[in-house]
Amino acid sequence: MSAPSDATQSQETPAEDVELESLRERYARERDRRIRPDGTAQYRSTTGDFGYYATDPYTPRTEREPLNDTVDVLVIGGGFGGLTTGARLRQVGVESIRMMDEAGDFGGTWYWNRYPGIHCDIESYSYIPLLEEVGYVPKWRYAPGEEIRRHAVAIAETFGLYRDALFHTRATSMDWNEDEGVWEVATDRGDHMRARYVITSSGTLSRPKLPGIPGIENFRGHTFHTSRWDYGYTGGDADGGLVGLADKKVAVVGTGATGVQVIPHLGRDAEHLYVFQRTPSSVDVRDNRPTDPEWSGSLEPGWQRERMENFLSIISGEPVETDLTKDGWTATARLQRKMITGALDTSVSAEERERLDEIADARTMNRIRTRVDEVVQDPATAERLKPWYRYMCKRPCFSDHYLQTFNRPDVTLVDTADHGGITRVTEDAIVVGDTEYEVDCVVFATGFEVGISGVLSGALPVRGRDGQELLASWSRGPKTLHGFYSPGFPNLFHLGSMQNANSVNFAHILLEQAEHIAAVIEQAGKTGAEVVEPSEEATEEWVRTVRESAHDNSDFQAQCTPGYYNREGTATGGSNSYGPGPVAFHRILREWRDTRMDEVLVQRTAVSDR
Ligand code: NDP
Repeated sequence: MSAPSDATQSQETPAEDVELESLRERYARERDRRIRPDGTAQYRSTTGDFGYYATDPYTPRTEREPLNDTVDVLVIGGGFGGLTTGARLRQVGVESIRMMDEAGDFGGTWYWNRYPGIHCDIESYSYIPLLEEVGYVPKWRYAPGEEIRRHAVAIAETFGLYRDALFHTRATSMDWNEDEGVWEVATDRGDHMRARYVITSSGTLSRPKLPGIPGIENFRGHTFHTSRWDYGYTGGDADGGLVGLADKKVAVVGTGATGVQVIPHLGRDAEHLYVFQRTPSSVDVRDNRPTDPEWSGSLEPGWQRERMENFLSIISGEPVETDLTKDGWTATARLQRKMITGALDTSVSAEERERLDEIADARTMNRIRTRVDEVVQDPATAERLKPWYRYMCKRPCFSDHYLQTFNRPDVTLVDTADHGGITRVTEDAIVVGDTEYEVDCVVFATGFEVGISGVLSGALPVRGRDGQELLASWSRGPKTLHGFYSPGFPNLFHLGSMQNANSVNFAHILLEQAEHIAAVIEQAGKTGAEVVEPSEEATEEWVRTVRESAHDNSDFQAQCTPGYYNREGTATGGSNSYGPGPVAFHRILREWRDTRMDEVLVQRTAVSDR
């Protein structure tokens, strides 16, 4: 018995019919009409005057006395990275763990994002971590966000992570106290706590961003960002039923992965929906369905790990005997490697490989464009919904409801591409070129600032040994061993996508990182080491390894329409990831744990004598 799966592939263009030259010209034209001179500066942060776009609408803030205490481990970030680290630390016997988050509860991205229609776009059996540990099998192949958020809460309950947890709390500074061997951590609640270890896992796409549209501050109607959904205004819940919009003209700005999920609900429930699109997403078949109870009843211990690794191997181009997932991601694995790792197929020359990649890409994108014609009845609307770029230029989307929404008489697609987006906002309307669209409500599905953990942005100043500032010590780029830790900053670990290897199944990436960190801290406990800190030599060796192996995808990026993947068309240089990809990286971590772990376990006195 296998997991429910599907064949998502409809007809592809035969390879011999692909016209690469004309496609290249069309892609370049579509990119050029969207490139803006202001690049990433076109966006506004949801801080200062726009701070209300980022406030927590889900959990009231409660006042509390500042803390002045000591814990063994402080985990900053209550999403899946922090939660799996906390869980693994509990499993190896760490008692004193404090979880901390700016949100009002656990869940990270699934805490914030509760918009109608929210689902995970990766198969839930591989995406949602610690299913076997918590004793849960998701009810749907692609789980709704609320089910995932509840699972995050269940992880915290299962592993006792609510004990000592602090919510609506942001770390504001961290200073290493060499005499006591602890980090001194201050927060925006006036806390001054000490922690022997600090683990930061505060997300890469967490702060919502707004387009810098002229006049945006003048709008007098209702407005919010998708990651802070205002159900008080719209009514309904994440399953829909937005009855508050029945007499409202609604604008939604943005047609990325979020827009594609939310637009079917807005289209169904608003009196009229205007979809302001700048670049269409590629939208393939989803084919979501409930979990087959016979299949879930047949699962043997270890099933989730096997499934996660199988998925990761396929995406990374590693050999596997079977594809356990068989979905739109595994079917396009070759195309994803353009972005994520280098091509592993060395049986042909680099030129031939590029030609084959491009043909495979064109066939997939032609099929996705053909699907638009098949689903959308109005030919002019269908034309505007077709994505003209290579597959991984933007996050690929999957939906069985999105394109269909444009067949509704109460939904209007407004193409803003020739204007670089929306022209301006007035008190009661959105203006594109010379046309005004009067609306009651504007929903921004305009994404997030990228890579903004407080540590990297400088919002959380970190001072290590001798008061050395982390960002100053990284002024010529991050300096880490395996992305986790840096010399001069003892007992401080970072989770995320920095100098390691990434995947579309980011929850799996975080799980492997969590397990590694827990193993290192466990070993420190066993050996009596006071400090976990890599040597300068080992760190330099790893930084060199990443630099030399990193897959340079800048040519590919330069051909893409602008977006956050290519820093709005300004990306230069290669990635900062380990080129052979996540499976190879995890192998390195395992071998390192077996043979070299003791190198980072040192005594404090010995370190300070250096
Ligand atoms: P994105 O950054 O992907 O999309 C932002 C959208 O806003 C784009 O369509 C963009 O157009 C549009 N936009 C920005 N400025 C303007 C403007 N001035 N006028 C008109 N349109 C504008 O954000 P998302 O929230 O959609 O997705 C972010 C990421 O979150 C995804 O890539 C994915 O990693 C993750 N995600 C994952 C999901 C999952 O199921 N796992 C679901 C949802 C999100 P343009 O493309 O032209 O810039």
